[in-house]
This record gives sequence, structure tokens and C-alpha cells, in this order.
Amino acid sequence: MLRINFKKSIFPIIIGTFIFTALSTSNLIAQCSMMKGHGNHSGHSEHGKQSTDGGDTTLIRKGAIDVDELDFDIDGYVYQDQMHWNVISDKPAECPLCGMKLEKVKIKDAIRNLKENDFQVK
Ligand SMILES: [Zn+2]
Repeated sequence: MLRINFKKSIFPIIIGTFIFTALSTSNLIAQCSMMKGHGNHSGHSEHGKQSTDGGDTTLIRKGAIDVDELDFDIDGYVYQDQMHWNVISDKPAECPLCGMKLEKVKIKDAIRNLKENDFQVK
């Protein structure tokens, strides 16, 4: 009887410990990747500030690009690199990646270029 009781009482503890370990491990992994992502991000912007002659790295758009939002003066045009489609500025600028002058394009053309080259557009 004693043995059975012992097994019954230890079993939930083992399960509990297992779940707790699993949870804390996944938390740790999540925190780690968050920190990694953050580190990469700040590293990038610092790099951009240092190499001012290479152009403004903030022009490199990431994720889903909202071209309408990038047109600050609302003239219907943005400047887009013809090699790096995700490099878009509202003002004349040079591509921070290849140094080419950005071409003035209509917003809808910029969006079409992005879509045709597998960039996400909002
Ligand atoms: Zn470029």
C-alpha cells in the first residue's frame, strides 16, 4: 500500500517538474532570440551611422513596406533603387548598398517593383 501511495504522489511531481522545465527552457530560448535580434538591430544602425559616405542605411526598408507612408511630402513619387528595390526614400538619395542614385518613381510603380521582386508590401 505504501509503495502505491508513493508512486501516486511522486507521479504528478515528476510531470510538474517536466512541464516547469519545458516552460522555463522555452522562455529562455525566446529571451535569447529576442536579445539576439535586438543586438543585430542596434549593431546595424550603429554601422549605418559610422559609414555616412555609404548612404543612409535607414533607407533600407525591411518587412512589409508601406510605400504610401514613405511618401512624406505626398507628391505621389518616391525614390527607389533599381537594384535594391527595398531601398526607398522620399527625397533624392543614394543607395547605401551599391551607391547608385535612387530613381524617382510613382508610388504604384515602386509597389509593383517590390511585388515583382518578392518584397512584402503593406
Ligand atoms: Zn542599391
